[in-house]
Amino acid sequence: MVAGQILNRGIRDPKILSVFSKVPRDRFVPEEHRMRSYTDHPLPIGEGQTISQPYIVALMMELLHPEPDSRVLEIGTGSGYQTALLAEIASKVYSIERIPVLAERASRLLKDMGYANVEIRVGDGSLGWPEAAPFDRILVAAAAPSVPKSLAGQLAEGGRLVVPIGSALEQTLTLVERVQGNLRLQEGCSCLFVPLIGAEGS
Ligand code: SAM
Repeated sequence: MVAGQILNRGIRDPKILSVFSKVPRDRFVPEEHRMRSYTDHPLPIGEGQTISQPYIVALMMELLHPEPDSRVLEIGTGSGYQTALLAEIASKVYSIERIPVLAERASRLLKDMGYANVEIRVGDGSLGWPEAAPFDRILVAAAAPSVPKSLAGQLAEGGRLVVPIGSALEQTLTLVERVQGNLRLQEGCSCLFVPLIGAEGS
């Protein structure tokens, strides 16, 4: 998966390649789809949600550029796979999932796997996690109609926020940086995520 789908398609950051080699994606895929864990596809994880395609996850990680001392906010825990990848690099990961059964499953799995620097809660991630803000990095794994104001407000100076922006049918992976108090937006490739459902989502 790492050689064929990630390295081959231009992801070169050794830190990212190394965590993809380390975290077993099959642990996060439901039993009935486990044989397809290392194919280049999103896969169902129940509740009408998906674990994202490995290449897109890698691309988001590259844009986000987490550092060892980063405090990261992730919106849309889903299976917990990307949470684990982030937790391998960053000092602390706060993750919000709106569907309780997914949040509970991911929480249990990540605890079993020994991740002590992850906190997961159930809620509307479009509003962020104000008590723990500001964050050095914010990753949104669901599509928003525009950059959620609450999340932008919780981004630290010099911080990076990665979010798919657009309609249900077409989105652009967008990098938002806070530079000297201002937000700078940079559009990337097109992508297709499930909608961010909430007060500042769809
Ligand atoms: N990165 C995840 C993984 O590795 O499995 C996949 C995330 S999945 C594409 C998107 C997730 O965002 C879904 O689990 C969905 O329930 C969640 N979601 C959608 N809107 C949300 C919101 N407002 N707050 C928190 N989670 C939300």
